Amino acid sequence: MNRRHFLKAAAMTTAAAGLLKSGASLAHAAASGIDAASIRNYKADMPYRRMGKTGVQVSALGFGMLRLPLLADGRTVDERQTIGMLRYGIDNGINYVDTAYVYLGGQSEPTVGKALANGYRDKVYLATKLPLRLIKDEADIDRFFDASRHRLQTDVIDFYLLHHVTAKTWNQSVLPFKIMEKVERLKQDGKIRFIGFSFHDNLALFKHVLGAYPDWDFCQLMENYLDTEYEAGFLGMKYAYERGLAVNCMEPLKAGLLVRPPREVQSIFDAAPVKRTPVEWAFDYLWNMPEPGVVISGMSNVEQVKENLEYARRSSVGMLDWNDRVVIGQAAKRYREYEGVTACTGCNNCAPCPKGVAIGSLIGQMWFIYKVTGDKAAAQGYYNNVPTPRGVNADVCDGCGECLPKCPHHVDIPDLLRQMRAELKA
Ligand code: SF4
Ligand code: SF4
Repeated sequence: MNRRHFLKAAAMTTAAAGLLKSGASLAHAAASGIDAASIRNYKADMPYRRMGKTGVQVSALGFGMLRLPLLADGRTVDERQTIGMLRYGIDNGINYVDTAYVYLGGQSEPTVGKALANGYRDKVYLATKLPLRLIKDEADIDRFFDASRHRLQTDVIDFYLLHHVTAKTWNQSVLPFKIMEKVERLKQDGKIRFIGFSFHDNLALFKHVLGAYPDWDFCQLMENYLDTEYEAGFLGMKYAYERGLAVNCMEPLKAGLLVRPPREVQSIFDAAPVKRTPVEWAFDYLWNMPEPGVVISGMSNVEQVKENLEYARRSSVGMLDWNDRVVIGQAAKRYREYEGVTACTGCNNCAPCPKGVAIGSLIGQMWFIYKVTGDKAAAQGYYNNVPTPRGVNADVCDGCGECLPKCPHHVDIPDLLRQMRAELKA
């Protein structure tokens, strides 16, 4: 057999194997009562969850496109790596991709657009977000929407969110610029399939926003086992679910801070009857409940994608028993006992600081780790050896307050930086 014949034979074998596999998948789905043909990118080993009244079935794990790998300069998205890991996730059953106009200074959407070329777009539900904070007049809405579609190389956005609903953005953008009317029109024109919002304020406002527009299809909330009473929290998730909305869960690992627990928390996990990694405990807390639709995780390398896919494949509603839930409750209680832990998730929405302070790294990572481990030497080492690729330490902060309105979690950044400087400056 010459090389050409060999390649042709190999291709036919692969295609036949693919057909057999997809036939087996469909048979498996039919036996399980799942309408696989209605699910984008169906894979037999991936559990799917219903997105409320939309009726759409999404993979248990969604791909968040905020925490992407960066090049050595610490600022530029590593496109090659990002495209590889997103496609790996899709090839293995992920069918929900979540980005935003503002993510990574505008780099996320174009990178997603490139990754979804060559047929990948049709395998996923694509979500992006309207940047409420940047809207200055009504014309901006169409402008941002069309820019997102252009960057994402798509005509239709499956899930379109108002990004970062708070009392301020609701009263200063959504209402005066008649944003709901405009996105409703985009939906009627077939350019948006479902309308939702991401939320960063209290439960009372969350209920008000739900009541103000009865046609929301979905919402996106910060949900993890530590933040059950933070923002809309656990009660907000139930409230939306009971009204038929799909509830997307973001920050399941609290920006990665639940990945490496301090010794006292780890010892609770070690003593559990069923062994799980800290990441697995955090995901399973959400997947166990009926309310979450897709659980969105921002993954930064292919190892994280592989690990999270494994956990997603094992997931189901009701997967945790009484003992498991006690373990999670004990871990959450222990975390809350550390003094000085803030609500910062390290999201970097406050960037850029005009003075170049690496706010997210300092508060979201270093300060949290310092407060739960008490390791002052390590914290001082980190603090005094910034600059990191994300910026410099808090010594140059002049308290201008420019960062304050950009923080979805209402962290008093200048005050915390002052405290940090006093405690850690060499
Ligand atoms: S208050 Fe400090 S950290 Fe915030 S923007 Fe001003 S200089 Fe930067
Ligand atoms: S201070 Fe606020 S905006 Fe900045 S990284 Fe933390 S949570 Fe995000």
